[in-house]
Amino acid sequence: MPECLFCAIVAGDIPADIVLRTDSVVAFRDIDPKAPTHILVVPTEHHSNVGELSEQAPEAAAAVLQAAAEIARMEDLAGYRLVFNTGAEAGQSVFHVHGHVLGGRSLTWPPG
Ligand code: 5GP
Ligand code: ZN
Repeated sequence: MPECLFCAIVAGDIPADIVLRTDSVVAFRDIDPKAPTHILVVPTEHHSNVGELSEQAPEAAAAVLQAAAEIARMEDLAGYRLVFNTGAEAGQSVFHVHGHVLGGRSLTWPPG
């Protein structure tokens, strides 16, 4: 089994509630949702964070953004927030890049 949690989910070794899968991205519901819709979008290839993804695999970065928009349509979201926590200080706890698609309620700003 891969050491990385999200690589293991991509490989199907750890179960997840998958809502979208293509060759380049997998999206699944967050295990601890912070909004009525809280879906994580990850590239199938391992990259640590969104900066590295955009530099090393720009097509996969675009695919993650497109998948987020597709999920917002699928979930019928009037609006959504797409968050890439980058680095432990910003709250990143899994170091396989993932976009959080959050929606289904009114979201406040600024975030904590
Ligand atoms: P981060 O803190 O790195 O920005 O986000 C990691 C996210 O992954 C958290 O929102 C957390 O709830 C979610 N998460 C952690 N472990 C699992 C898991 O095993 N399955 C799923 N579906 N989500 C997870
Ligand atoms: Zn990984």
